[in-house]
Amino acid sequence: MPSITPKIGLEAERRVSVLLPYPFPGPFDYMVPDELDPKPGDVVVVPLNRREVIGVVWDTAPEGRLPAHRLKSIISVLDTPPMLEPLRRFVDWMAAYTLSPPGDVMIMALRVVTTAASLRTVLEYTRAVPQPDVKMTQARRKVLDILASHEPIQGPALQREAEVGAAVLRGMVDIGLLKAAAVTTEPFGKPDPGFSRPALSSSQQDAATSLISAVSAHTFSVTLLDGVTGSGKTEVYLEAIAACLNAGRQALVILPEIALSAQWIDRFQRRFGTAPAVWHSDLPSRIRKLTWQAVTEGRAAVVVGARSALFLPFPDLGLVVVDEEHETAFKQQDGVVYNARDMAIVRARLCTCPTILVSATPSLETVTNVETGRYHHLRLANRHGGASMPTVSLVEQAMLFLNRRGYAPLTLCRACGHRMQCPNCSAWLVEHRTRQQLLCHHCGHTIPIPPECPSCGAKESLTPIGPGIERITEEAALLFPEARRLIMASDTIVGPQAAAAAAHAIEARQVDLIIGTQLVAKGWHFPHLTFVGVVDADLGLAGGDLRAAERTVQLLHQVAGRAGRAEAPGSVVLQTFVPEHPVMQALLNGDLDAFMASEAEARREGEWPPFGRLAALIVSAETALLADSVARDLGLAAPRGDGIVVLGPAPAPLALLRGHHRRRLLLKVRRDMAVQPILVQWLARIKVPHSVRVDIDVDPISFL
Ligand code: ADP
Ligand code: ZN
Repeated sequence: MPSITPKIGLEAERRVSVLLPYPFPGPFDYMVPDELDPKPGDVVVVPLNRREVIGVVWDTAPEGRLPAHRLKSIISVLDTPPMLEPLRRFVDWMAAYTLSPPGDVMIMALRVVTTAASLRTVLEYTRAVPQPDVKMTQARRKVLDILASHEPIQGPALQREAEVGAAVLRGMVDIGLLKAAAVTTEPFGKPDPGFSRPALSSSQQDAATSLISAVSAHTFSVTLLDGVTGSGKTEVYLEAIAACLNAGRQALVILPEIALSAQWIDRFQRRFGTAPAVWHSDLPSRIRKLTWQAVTEGRAAVVVGARSALFLPFPDLGLVVVDEEHETAFKQQDGVVYNARDMAIVRARLCTCPTILVSATPSLETVTNVETGRYHHLRLANRHGGASMPTVSLVEQAMLFLNRRGYAPLTLCRACGHRMQCPNCSAWLVEHRTRQQLLCHHCGHTIPIPPECPSCGAKESLTPIGPGIERITEEAALLFPEARRLIMASDTIVGPQAAAAAAHAIEARQVDLIIGTQLVAKGWHFPHLTFVGVVDADLGLAGGDLRAAERTVQLLHQVAGRAGRAEAPGSVVLQTFVPEHPVMQALLNGDLDAFMASEAEARREGEWPPFGRLAALIVSAETALLADSVARDLGLAAPRGDGIVVLGPAPAPLALLRGHHRRRLLLKVRRDMAVQPILVQWLARIKVPHSVRVDIDVDPISFL
């Protein structure tokens, strides 16, 4: 049968292939109606089954297998920038490489499509000076009420809160009740390459110069920029970005974790005077659209982002940087499985621009590519400004020291602030979690941990405050679940047998981590211990104890001395709030002699022991009244004379102990005098009731 198709019809038959964002094996053919003229890259609306979907006109020749009458026609061409050639090739390449349906890859580039309509400007409203005799409606009043409590508010939010339509707001502007202003919400500006140039070191400058010439070459290349952390790699590649900006092209920086971007953005801002455009999947939709639009128009000069930023429609990409190139986070694991580092290189190749891979610890793949000459290599050997790398040592056995038993020294009600106190002593009850008890370390008073606050009755509101070794142990168990732990405190290692067993286990290396109180300071030999961490090293410095500093130095020196031996030197870390304190300085410099000398000097001046003599008088009574009255009598009868000083009376630091109220007086005499006759005469001058005790402590070492 001779062809009856008129020639004119053949000419009129136009078909194109359209890639749809679905997992089909390739693009579909569509007919082009006369009035449309779609070009490759155009975003079009087409029928698919019974729906209308968005697709992209692809470059592939139409398949041409189906007769024209079986094909559907393109419905419209969207008023949005077309998907550019390099991005289309990127989609093809990636689909082929990852064996993914091309539509699934393209979807990543098509997630944001802005049209003129979707980018309406947003108005921000404030109140205007009220005009006389305007008509007030309920809706208008509601709008004004909302603005009264916070101004300005953006249109959509105001509409939502006041439950009014856009027309109400427009009307209010018209009659002068409101002022409206278009908001500029682009959260990035135009970076200024000369804003704040660093003075680069010569090796940094060499590296920067190479990168800058790679950028100016306008060709594809890959350069590994490696160097220890802190060597200035970021500083150097920011110079390459500056060169890219000077050339008027766009730069893309891919980071493995968007969580890292805040610091990076600050850094960028200091260098270029404005924030870069940021791209990741959690952007609010409006910012997303604005940013996408700005990238398309070339206004977003630098984009920093996650993997998905590879699919942004850069019209003129001049540089791609992959920071921390070794990171496994670059690998996308679900959907289309790809490594953003590798795809960044492909993206750069298809845009004919250089790539910089940055890492202090480059991946073996990258190192191999350097060795085979496929990648260039720039190395920054030293830390900037002569900063040195930390010392590294191997730890065989470690110890954490905290001179406080139990779980937490204080238990507090979060609801009412009540503190769990010993009824017999002026001391907080210490939580001992393993025993489920609160315990007084002075009198032994013990109660079960109450389920509710005894003061306000709030449930589960009692909170442990501060650390004890049980708590350190709990944290250590979370951080180092594998480490075999041993707790050494007077309540966990009881008796010589338990102590011997502990020593044996430590020596036989059946223990990795020792967690202990002052018990560990006492003459143990730990041959494998190479690390000691002292938690709250200042603990012993508190309180009015004359010898607090001396004792702390001694104790911590003993503890620190547990670490290391000739063939495996140990290290000690002290945690302190007062690093400048002479005790900490003495430990830090290992100069106990100097410390003792200055301590002696201080005590000599005040004629404190050993340059004077002390005796303490502790009055204790069942009632505060009785204790006070005897203490006052003692104060009034106090001895006087050359070389004699009496301090007090004053409440003892433990003003209540085992149910007794305690007051203290302190007798200080010159070294060449004896305290005993003075004390005897003093006590003879007053009458002490039977129910009151006066304890005498000659040469006291505790001041509680
Ligand atoms: P890296 O990226 O290699 O870890 P950075 O670029 O972050 O190193 O540099 C480490 C630190 O040293 C940063 O605080 C940086 O600002 C500073 N720094 C590096 N080079 C210079 C320089 N030439 N001038 C001033 N500061 C610099
Ligand atoms: Zn007590």
